[in-house]
Amino acid sequence: MYFYIQACKNGHFKADYKRIKQGDICEICGQPLMETCPSCGKLIQRWTYYGSVPICYKASSYELPDDCPECGAAFPWKENK
Ligand SMILES: [Zn+2]
Ligand SMILES: [Zn+2]
Repeated sequence: MYFYIQACKNGHFKADYKRIKQGDICEICGQPLMETCPSCGKLIQRWTYYGSVPICYKASSYELPDDCPECGAAFPWKENK
């Protein structure tokens, strides 16, 4: 089982065990959510869990990176800070 970080361009994020569906929006500001880097398409963050865990504990201490760890492109929320 996996958890994925889902973030909007304003830097709000949450962890969810479901992948983003078309039309998923940020619960705080209503912007579309993304789970992958717009430049290289790599997942922003994914955690593996064994068994069934109702919430992702690691997400509570997670900080969104400003730049993609994979390709170095600036994420959209960097300029909105
Ligand atoms: Zn938002
Ligand atoms: Zn990237």
